[in-house]
Amino acid sequence: MNVLEMIARTTAHGVTYGQVGRSTLVASAQDVEWMMVGLPEFQEHLIRAAYQQDSGSRRKLKRHWVEHLLYLYSVSDTEDENDDDMIEKLAANSLDYWLSPRKCGDCKGTGVMLSDSKLSDCGICEGTGRHQQSPSRICKGLGLPRGHVYPKWVIRWNQALGKLDKEEGAAALHMLNRKR
Ligand SMILES: [Zn+2]
Repeated sequence: MNVLEMIARTTAHGVTYGQVGRSTLVASAQDVEWMMVGLPEFQEHLIRAAYQQDSGSRRKLKRHWVEHLLYLYSVSDTEDENDDDMIEKLAANSLDYWLSPRKCGDCKGTGVMLSDSKLSDCGICEGTGRHQQSPSRICKGLGLPRGHVYPKWVIRWNQALGKLDKEEGAAALHMLNRKR
């Protein structure tokens, strides 16, 4: 379980979110809400969808995510104008996968490996804890014709997951900084 997961999972009894020295810090549900104050809307929905299984946030997040990717690729890519349906599918699929990915088999989804009694990022999944889908699997998931790999969509898929990771990281930083 990562730091963010520990701080963001709210329960009626609060949440224990880390070891500092010999004491364990405990945050109540209200503390977690307080830590989330000031998060950009997208990040707030992201945290609630990912860690609080909030279906309303998940719907809003998906809508924002579709809009974001449509905007991103309409300004950066002028060669194809009829990609909108594909981009919507990319947005929906990448978000679903990001929220409940298959776990990396090497680190069992933790994103870290123990070697020489030191923890370091898993080299297979680059610390994400996610199973890296093969290019053909990605294309198949997006409904592209079988038997081909479409580099453009594989790149966009990886960019999408990376962007969601980045937003999550920014949210975690915000919440940890608020705690002080
Ligand atoms: Zn891994």
